[in-house]
Amino acid sequence: MSGNAVRLQAIKDVEAYVPPAVSFDLGETPGEVFGANVFSKTVMQKRLPKSVYRSVLATIDHAAPLDPLVADAVASAMKDWAMEKGATHYAHVFYPLTGLTAEKHDSFLEPAGDGSALAEFAGKTLTQGEPDASSFPSGGLRNTFEARGYTGWDVTSPAYVLENPNGNTLCIPTVFVSMQGDALDHKTPLLRSQQSMAVHAERVLRLFGHEQPDAVVSYCGAEQEYFLIDRHFHLARPDLLNAGRTLFGTKPPKGQEFDDHYFGAIPERVLGFMMDTERELFKLGIPAKTRHNEVAPGQFEIAPVFERGNVAADHQQLLMTTFKRIAQKHGMECLFHEKPFEGVNGSGKHVNFSLGNASEGNLLLPGETPHENAQFLVFCAAVIRAVHKFGGLLRASVASASNDHRLGANEAPPAIISIFLGDQLAEVFDQVAKGGATSSKEKGTLMIGVDTLPVLPTDPGDRNRTSPFAFTGNRFEFRAPGSLQSVGGPMVTLNTIMAEALDHIATTLEAAVAAGTAFDTAVQKLLEELISDHGAVVFNGDGYSEEWQVEAAARGLPNLRTTLDALPELVSEPALELFSRYGVFSHREMHSRYEIGLEQYALTIGVEARLTLEIGTTSVLPAAVRHQTEIATNLAALKAVGLEPDLVPLEEISAPLAQLREGLAVLRSALAAETGHGASAEAEHARDALLPAMASVRAAADQVESLVADDLWPLPTYQEMLFVL
Ligand code: ADP
Ligand code: MG
Repeated sequence: MSGNAVRLQAIKDVEAYVPPAVSFDLGETPGEVFGANVFSKTVMQKRLPKSVYRSVLATIDHAAPLDPLVADAVASAMKDWAMEKGATHYAHVFYPLTGLTAEKHDSFLEPAGDGSALAEFAGKTLTQGEPDASSFPSGGLRNTFEARGYTGWDVTSPAYVLENPNGNTLCIPTVFVSMQGDALDHKTPLLRSQQSMAVHAERVLRLFGHEQPDAVVSYCGAEQEYFLIDRHFHLARPDLLNAGRTLFGTKPPKGQEFDDHYFGAIPERVLGFMMDTERELFKLGIPAKTRHNEVAPGQFEIAPVFERGNVAADHQQLLMTTFKRIAQKHGMECLFHEKPFEGVNGSGKHVNFSLGNASEGNLLLPGETPHENAQFLVFCAAVIRAVHKFGGLLRASVASASNDHRLGANEAPPAIISIFLGDQLAEVFDQVAKGGATSSKEKGTLMIGVDTLPVLPTDPGDRNRTSPFAFTGNRFEFRAPGSLQSVGGPMVTLNTIMAEALDHIATTLEAAVAAGTAFDTAVQKLLEELISDHGAVVFNGDGYSEEWQVEAAARGLPNLRTTLDALPELVSEPALELFSRYGVFSHREMHSRYEIGLEQYALTIGVEARLTLEIGTTSVLPAAVRHQTEIATNLAALKAVGLEPDLVPLEEISAPLAQLREGLAVLRSALAAETGHGASAEAEHARDALLPAMASVRAAADQVESLVADDLWPLPTYQEMLFVL
């Protein structure tokens, strides 16, 4: 097809699209569906011998080491259960550092020698797998002759059956490590960091009089933003198809409303999609909760209920693949890119973070008694210290080429990591800092005297959308993560910096108490110190304002605008020290993550640059030339009949056309240029040469788009794509 034929066909197909009929019983209750495909505790309790079940439970709930003897029993029960659910295969699912989900499928069936086959699934097959690791990034950790990697069962994240028209698969969440045991994934460090954070949180709890605290875990609730567009448009946009974002496209004319009546059936379609995804997520035990997002046309949000960090991370990945799959079933494409459309609000993934345990519940929930509130303030102060000391690391944990389009662009939190506490909590900390909150009169309660302060609200009315890290009543909401990212990275960082802060707090308090200081006095002094040392990270104002940039600099807060500014944080001395001290990453592993960050950055921009060159050359340029030719032909015809032609239209298209040609030439040579060796040189080349060249091409092309005849324009326009409301 030529010219705009692809685009016109897409529009026709969109108009003719008939949504699929609902394929499930609308009368079924969520309770019937929820967790139907999950090898949950309930299923295990029913199917496992009592002693095995107890042993597995001890591992899940109390972080007890897994007893290898139980693996066989669990594997056998898991296999039977999965086969009853129609599974023919099993897969170790892991999360390599590409941000995607990887699976290696194997059949349950093994030849029995007599021509028949037996369904086999041994304990060692459940606990360990051996995928070829060579196609996943390792940042130099793996030599090619040691291409093997290992996957290992994460007992704490439930296995599940994934349905597919071609046969169901038993999926086992796993970690992914190299031959030497180096982490190659998001899950390994997440489990390590969780463990480390728990140790120190439990020390703090013991100081507060909980003699044998239950295992502490961190919780994560991830709000996911995404776009839906019609699949026909998606297929007609090679940039969206291959880069996940549009590399061309003028904003719709200013002030024009998106015409939501044009395709009347579409909202229904989105609704059908949402019902379908929710049901799928429910079956997988993902507690989904959907909501329309008003920010941009075609943009929506889903916020599952929070779960313990590693389970939430697995579910989050599963949610994304489910959304992609179900969207396609409904004739749509689900876009998770942080900035699919320039000039239109982008998508983030807010990571809601808290920590707690079975007996204490959420440790970031203000309590009802002064004692509980003192404990709450200590955990809150730990967050303040953590974010102040390691804000740069948090920034690095959300750094990616695609998230750079969003952070600091006045629609998402700035690249400066600060904390919003809300007026009330900020005031409490102010009083604590001044030592003024020590007026408790009641004997036996803490001197810290928060009982004289207003009752802390669990749901403060004041919300500050401009803050990257906001206290929202019972958790902190980290708003900088990108919609495409795994929550693993941010969660690892949060857990680790919390481990450091809680370690510091526990050590300080333990020493004070050992030296004979009264506990409440020690707490008061500690809080004062924490606020005075780290209060600079608290900012309740407008994070989008110019003044904040200036003030943040004066406060010494880093402002790491882009990925390449942020990534070096990973290999800074304090970071290396921090992660190795808390057993989360060795120095080698940190260096590898840094390398991978650079590689992914260069790779992403490299692909975009090649696509820009290709689409610019083969689609935009011909459209511009044809348009120019038409005008020129028209001018010649006018001249031939003796009319004085107006040259303006010709000049109008000729100027951007020349710029486009020049831009493409610059981009072509930037792509051909030698970049120097190493991931860092390539990443810098991408930033300094490719990105600006792409921007020039786009500027010229977008101008062309606004000038050429509609019947010559090859790519579905922003206005067309964003119809799905
Ligand atoms: P908002 O619009 O206020 O951000 P949403 O309802 O969209 O609220 O999302 C809130 C998210 O925070 C949900 O994923 C929810 O499960 C999660 N959340 C609530 N409480 C906690 C908590 N204590 N720890 C972690 N996440 C939480
Ligand atoms: Mg939110």
